[in-house]
Amino acid sequence: METIISGIQPSGIPTIGNYIGAMQHFVNLQDEYDCYFFIADLHSITVPQKKAELRKQILDLAALYLAVGLDPEKVKLFIQSEVPAHCEAAWMIQCATPIGELERMTQYKDKAQKQDTVNAGLLNYPTLMVSDIILYDAAKVPVGADQKQHLELTRNFVDRFNNKYAQKGQTLLVKPEPLIAKNGARIMSLQDPTKKMSKSDSNPKGFISMLDDADTIRKKIRSAVTDSEATIAYDPENRPAVANLLTIFSSVTGISIETLVATYEESGYGTFKNDLAEAIVDWITPIHERFHQLRESEELQEILTVGAIEANKKANKTLRRMKNALGLGRK
Ligand code: ATP
Ligand code: MG
Repeated sequence: METIISGIQPSGIPTIGNYIGAMQHFVNLQDEYDCYFFIADLHSITVPQKKAELRKQILDLAALYLAVGLDPEKVKLFIQSEVPAHCEAAWMIQCATPIGELERMTQYKDKAQKQDTVNAGLLNYPTLMVSDIILYDAAKVPVGADQKQHLELTRNFVDRFNNKYAQKGQTLLVKPEPLIAKNGARIMSLQDPTKKMSKSDSNPKGFISMLDDADTIRKKIRSAVTDSEATIAYDPENRPAVANLLTIFSSVTGISIETLVATYEESGYGTFKNDLAEAIVDWITPIHERFHQLRESEELQEILTVGAIEANKKANKTLRRMKNALGLGRK
């Protein structure tokens, strides 16, 4: 079985964009792959976080992973900072990565702009992501389109490292392929369809959080921007806001975009938004029920403890190969 790895930062409550672009695929992949899914708390501190909120969001995210359908019998679910190998490998990776390559990353440029002081960790973020991937010998990485550039950096790093250090016939590091879903890979902000939906957006009207209650969901959909056209049509280039709402509608109901357009073409934004909000509420209600059952449970703690043990086992093996390749420590 091939291995898959993917993480989500506890930098807020996951949004419906995180679900559509990432979590729902994780659920589909768990039967076909050896899956490692993690809570990327180390990544989240590349920008300032509040201690109490971070702690809460780590467990919220863990419970949500399970509430949307990940089966702890099939996947390893763990917290990144509970596997020290991530930081150790990241250091070795940083020592072999030109700064220019990191400065070119779009996400770095975007996030750096929003900070008064840019810490080294924000620049080095992709090297920690390289570490997350290679430690598990991941063949595939399911990521949203926003992470494609970081995966390319990982692939380049693996080539460089293997060329330099692998002994004849040795698989030192595995080169990962991206696994990008065709539909709904990138959900946009409800307030600005040129910007991706992000859980760390300072304006909560831009996203629907996976823990928003029914009334909040209705309000946010009602205030979502549209355009000045009268009809509903799917035209991502010229009418991105409406296309985005259609993508969300289709993702939560499983109804095709064509059928949705045929149904709502002439019905006006009021009815369309109303039905969309109800569709999201119907879909999210059972997820909330499972979330609340799990969130305070001993079961959640046990799943994370077992996940950390399994992840450490796997990651430490790769770390050993890297240390030996570089000549660090003793054999
Ligand atoms: P942050 O604003 O803190 O970076 P985020 O919403 O971008 O939060 P991440 O934790 O960075 O979330 O990403 C988690 C996963 O969700 C990744 O696989 C990423 O590709 C995917 N993802 C993030 N935003 C979207 C989006 N708007 N549409 C689809 N997928 C997304
Ligand atoms: Mg992000």
